[in-house]
Amino acid sequence: MLVLSSPSGAGKTTIARKILESDDNLAMSVSVTTRPPRPGESDGVDYHFIDAARFSEMAETGDLLEHAHVFDHHYGTPRGPVEAALSAGRDVLFDIDWQGTQQLVEKARKDLVSIFILPPSVDELERRLRARAQDPEDVVQSRMAKASDEMSHYAEYDYIIVNHDVEVSTAKVAGILSAERLRRERQAGLTDFVNTLRKG
Ligand code: 5GP
Repeated sequence: MLVLSSPSGAGKTTIARKILESDDNLAMSVSVTTRPPRPGESDGVDYHFIDAARFSEMAETGDLLEHAHVFDHHYGTPRGPVEAALSAGRDVLFDIDWQGTQQLVEKARKDLVSIFILPPSVDELERRLRARAQDPEDVVQSRMAKASDEMSHYAEYDYIIVNHDVEVSTAKVAGILSAERLRRERQAGLTDFVNTLRKG
């Protein structure tokens, strides 16, 4: 389980998209949210867009692996697809905030690797939020105000990447993924393999 978090506008979604394109063994966890879709977002791809009643029902019946209230909307990770991907031997990428990350750490510390993406500067963060040009001005202002809160959680993450350049940052995420997959305890069947080697 690979978690990417960052303040809104730091480039996390672009990095997530690129890393998924380049890695066949990685599945994206598509969250549910009560936030309305932005222009260009599709249901079932970017999010499953649901209403508050359905969200409460999913949270109450344990269908969500974690959930949080972010920017006046509810967000959560559906449990079923994550468990199915993991059982099929695939790794799963999560684009979630610090609250969701804390909940996943409590549930699955050993199986989880977390990366926090920082913007190179506040000016750049604001520029990127405006360049997206999809959110109204009050939403941009509220996300700028919340960026500072979100960034205060950087120390809860395993890795930190300052996103100066999307291609370079994507390569860094790929490097982390590759190294973490090589960890001894994550390599299934290693004992048998080494025993076979030793027997000659
Ligand atoms: P946005 O509305 O810009 O798509 O997302 C707002 C924030 O909610 C981002 O920081 C994103 O990572 C976070 N988020 C998206 N999906 C989930 C989720 O399923 N759980 C949690 N905890 N946060 C999420």
